[in-house]
Amino acid sequence: MFGTLSERLSGILSGLTRRGSLTEEDVNAALREVRRALLEADVALEVVRSFTDKVRERAVGAEVLKSVTPGQQVIKIVNDVLIDTLGGEGEVIGFDAVPPVPILMVGLQGSGKTTSTAKIAKRLTERNKKKVLMASLDTRRPAAMEQLAILGTQVGVQTLPIVAGQSAVQIARRAVEAARLGGYDVVMLDTAGRVTLDDTLMEEVAQVKAATSPHEVLLVADALTGQDAVNTARAFDARVGLTGIVLTRMDGDSRGGAALSMRAVTGKPIKLVGTGEKVDELDDFHPSRVANRILG
Ligand code: GDP
Repeated sequence: MFGTLSERLSGILSGLTRRGSLTEEDVNAALREVRRALLEADVALEVVRSFTDKVRERAVGAEVLKSVTPGQQVIKIVNDVLIDTLGGEGEVIGFDAVPPVPILMVGLQGSGKTTSTAKIAKRLTERNKKKVLMASLDTRRPAAMEQLAILGTQVGVQTLPIVAGQSAVQIARRAVEAARLGGYDVVMLDTAGRVTLDDTLMEEVAQVKAATSPHEVLLVADALTGQDAVNTARAFDARVGLTGIVLTRMDGDSRGGAALSMRAVTGKPIKLVGTGEKVDELDDFHPSRVANRILG
């Protein structure tokens, strides 16, 4: 089956010339296409089910407006439910706390965590006029610490000097203390990434959280990894508790399924979106854009 979801829905419902209200049959035919498109976009099965239920609820019996075709009417309902599920626009990073406000960055290795840490630090410095300190807690990968320091120089944000032999919790405490003494507004803690969701990683992140009481715990997840991103979000939220999500690689050809699933499964807002490798390629989250990607 070719064409975008919008085209397919218009096609399926084009035979309906009558006006009035949408019947259960019309809606079921449309929902089969919606379901297929969501699965193609790599949306988690449980989310597809609850999503199609919501569309059915709104669509069956809905009056078809005089000005639109039944297809357009269903497309509008699907679009509305997509936007509702994706959550509101303009979720911002919170600062409503005594400075230095700790922000904990968590996620799997390769998700774009360190890059996103620097991107956010740059944005907070330039747009919000905050004085930001960044620290890498990746004790097992000196290269990751160096990467953050290099990015710090690039974006003009201070990084905590590296001291060998300290644990992640010790570095985190040192960072918060240095930020307090240095009059910083925000201290960004870039936790160690791991290839898989192992228990040691979760335990370390939980300990850092307990030691620093962060105002934000942001999961960085790669939009291109689809269902894996959803499992990662679920695991981090259950073990550590998230306040928001940063979705990276939205410049790639992801159909937006990860965004929809992560929001639906965790209930946590997608706060920012990574749109490239460069340090200023960071965007606010716009639910309507993701809805457009899915609907086409
Ligand atoms: P980490 O291991 O999670 O800290 O990941 P890094 O921050 O080192 O990023 C891994 C790779 O992904 C690097 O090459 C980044 O430049 C790249 N990257 C990060 N965010 C994005 C994004 O939004 N879009 C694209 N295209 N690449 C990204």
